[in-house]
Amino acid sequence: MLCGLEQEGINNIMKKIILASNNIHKINEIKQLLKEISIEISSLKDEDIDIDVIEDGETFKENAKKKASEIVDFLKKRGDNDFVVMADDSGLEVDYLKGEPGIYSARYAGKHGNDKENNEKLLEKLKGVTKDNREAKFICEIILMDSDKKCLSVKGEVKGIILEELSEEGGFGYDPLFYYEPLKKSFSELDQEDKNKVSHRGIALSRLKNQIKDFI
Ligand code: IMP
Repeated sequence: MLCGLEQEGINNIMKKIILASNNIHKINEIKQLLKEISIEISSLKDEDIDIDVIEDGETFKENAKKKASEIVDFLKKRGDNDFVVMADDSGLEVDYLKGEPGIYSARYAGKHGNDKENNEKLLEKLKGVTKDNREAKFICEIILMDSDKKCLSVKGEVKGIILEELSEEGGFGYDPLFYYEPLKKSFSELDQEDKNKVSHRGIALSRLKNQIKDFI
């Protein structure tokens, strides 16, 4: 889906995709998912960009757009033009908690990126809640934005059940609590390739991948 008012798509020649993230787990997932596309992919760290974008939007999409836009501004100020920025904003929505933690997923327990405390808080909030009421979904919004701020957005979702205790370590964020019924495993029990086949990020990126090819 095109975002903003633009209807032309991204039509400049892409030199590289810069991932607007400092989350190494996300970066690895995205790099793996895009590996068959022959475009250079670099992270903020690779590009020597040290910006922490404040995620104060009201939706995943607003936050993804804000991240992309601030990185685009920074790169243009630095004199770079041959790039496309990719920003992802994602999180977990639990039905019983009316969509919590949602856009606050990364900082649910207060401190940004404290997975252990976030998981503990979620378990506490769902204490005593039966399996039928522990349905949840991961959501991922991805924005691809060029130097003229033309952008594309795609979304991916995956449904699961929140476990009553942490499963084996692995993955990141809420992976050890997110049970994926079709494979009878939590996301932390899946290897990266298997997770990518079914995850919210995998779904969003496969939608994006088809469209990227048209732009090159
Ligand atoms: P973001 O970096 O602001 O998009 O924060 C996303 C947060 O949502 C992460 O810190 C995790 O807590 C959670 N999250 C998003 N995607 C995943 C995933 O694939 N597995 C586990 N947790 C995730």
